[in-house]
Amino acid sequence: MNVRIGNGYDIHKLVSGRPLILGGVKIEHELGLLGHSDADALTHAIMDAMLGALSLGDIGHYFPPTDPQWKGADSIELLTQVNQLILDQGWHISNLDSVVVAERPKIKPHINAMRDRLSKALQLSPQQVGVKATTNEKMGPVGREEGIAAYAVTLLVKDPQS
Ligand SMILES: [Zn+2]
Repeated sequence: MNVRIGNGYDIHKLVSGRPLILGGVKIEHELGLLGHSDADALTHAIMDAMLGALSLGDIGHYFPPTDPQWKGADSIELLTQVNQLILDQGWHISNLDSVVVAERPKIKPHINAMRDRLSKALQLSPQQVGVKATTNEKMGPVGREEGIAAYAVTLLVKDPQS
């Protein structure tokens, strides 16, 4: 097989006193996401999808929240490390698609900036990076604005020479 698919999911709690960063883009909001790193749920879901496609485990294995090295880490930097891992194994991303689930703030105005940031970090074109946004229709923890969740899938293709 020269193609592999992976999926990823992440959710972080919304709290005051933290920045809101999604897809490497800082979004103005009175709440931000809580986590050991910058808590960029979208970028984390994408990393898990990439690792999952090659059955390499999850980001908790590579960047454990118990390790002070990753405190406040820029998730885009972690994403480039995961991408390098994939490239080193002779694979590359064909495309990825993702969904951010947030009741507030409005995510749509920031989608193109996220696609730009993510595609640059992954050495892809923005056309290969899908980011969509939806609400949870006010239902459940995301609907009550207790957190923001993200889902991602990615298709990896084996390099022809390896
Ligand atoms: Zn996370």
